[in-house]
Amino acid sequence: MIVGEQKPIAEIKAIVKPYKKLLILGCGTCVKTCFAGGEDEVAVLASALRLSFKKDGKAIDIAEYTIERQCENEFIQEAAKVIAQNDSVLSLACGAGVQAIARRFAKIPVLPGVNTTFLGVLERQGFFTEECTGCGNCVLGIFGGICPITRCAKKLLNGPCGGSQKGYCEIKAETECAWHLIIDRSKSLGQLNNLTTYVPPKDWRSSNSGGPRRLVREDHII
Ligand code: SF4
Ligand code: SF4
Repeated sequence: MIVGEQKPIAEIKAIVKPYKKLLILGCGTCVKTCFAGGEDEVAVLASALRLSFKKDGKAIDIAEYTIERQCENEFIQEAAKVIAQNDSVLSLACGAGVQAIARRFAKIPVLPGVNTTFLGVLERQGFFTEECTGCGNCVLGIFGGICPITRCAKKLLNGPCGGSQKGYCEIKAETECAWHLIIDRSKSLGQLNNLTTYVPPKDWRSSNSGGPRRLVREDHII
């Protein structure tokens, strides 16, 4: 899922200050799971902003609405009416959701309320870890299902740097060395041999380094 965290309230206040009718728009999928932008977070943020602006003596009308996903037209359409009733939208979706809303409502400013951080997993309650940087050409099959591109600080493809300490990365002491994990896991899978083959430098054109990407599924185009 996409992991993000809500921006500090002071920053949000500064972003929405110029507007008189604000819709806080939540997203019920990834950002809900990481407690950044689901229905509950919309309600808490709306109350906090109302109180704070009241204290400042600023009149602002704040509405709340949450859709299942801000990155899909089908759901965006559900919010069209409520969006049209406001002069601005504070989206609590990831950056993709914010832009998906913005491109469909040309005359309404759509502002980000969340800092989109990474693609990750919920490791345990309240603890999210980054697992994938969307390189566009997945090589997990070689590395026992552990991504050296995302989880090794140096993105090494042909073995560890030699700097790890007791299984932890020399760059970030609280992070497990990806190569330590890759070797342990490959051993337990009986796939250590996978690691003896030279892996050539990655072609980064399939990643975001080649510019924004598109995925076309001809079989789903109507
Ligand atoms: S190899 Fe690429 S696609 Fe696969 S997990 Fe790593 S970054 Fe993601
Ligand atoms: S210590 Fe491990 S994870 Fe850190 S940079 Fe070296 S090989 Fe990569």
